[in-house]
Amino acid sequence: MAERSHTYRTQAVILRRRDYSEADRILTVYTPRLGKVELIAKGVRKTTSRKAGHLELFSHASLLVAQARTWDIVTEATTMESFLHLRGDLDCIGWAGYVCELVDAFGSADDENEQLWEMLLFALRVLDSGEVGIDLFLRWFELHLLSLVGFQPEFFHCLACGDELQAVTNYLGLAAGGVFCPRCGEAAGGTEPIEAGLLKILRHIQRSSWTEVRAVQLRPQTLQSVENILYRYLLLVLERQLRSVDFVRRLRAVRNQP
Ligand SMILES: [Zn+2]
Repeated sequence: MAERSHTYRTQAVILRRRDYSEADRILTVYTPRLGKVELIAKGVRKTTSRKAGHLELFSHASLLVAQARTWDIVTEATTMESFLHLRGDLDCIGWAGYVCELVDAFGSADDENEQLWEMLLFALRVLDSGEVGIDLFLRWFELHLLSLVGFQPEFFHCLACGDELQAVTNYLGLAAGGVFCPRCGEAAGGTEPIEAGLLKILRHIQRSSWTEVRAVQLRPQTLQSVENILYRYLLLVLERQLRSVDFVRRLRAVRNQP
């Protein structure tokens, strides 16, 4: 009985990989057209494998894939960008891991999101370029990723009455997904005051390109506040999705360190 066989070519970034069977690996990759996909790379843990060098974590590769019943099979792999500089720096490796985990956590299977694909490549290129100010870059990445996957926090209009937020102390309601005006905020419960200056920075990061955002000089404590707000928001969204439980656990462990 002949089985229907079909192959396709796709670009991919390797987000995650795990050993399988004696010499195989299961790869979680992000692609421009198919979203997040799990593929099997057979025999890549053998020293003779020609594919192995092209399937490193964070690599941008071109893959030829054969459809199969459980996991589609990588039959050919060619590196397009290996991000060598990034790989030589432990901090960069950590940041790239974080970027890939976020895309893994929020990227869906069989869901074309070419903008998310472009964001992922852009982030890896920025990390590879040795640019400074990566803390701010990661906040920019988090906010833009949240927008691309449908969890954009509302920073411009009151969540309750819809009025445009003024440059006063408003109320942040992370569980509700954004900010309330002073009148609605006190009644809403579970909110906290947010200074006009901090909200202005969050808005700027959310709606501007990285080139515009990187030009901003932020005081360390302001950057810390931005990080804290986005970290808590990401946790809320991820936990509500009941996805990526391991990632949430690691995220908590990292942040709980002194
Ligand atoms: Zn209101």
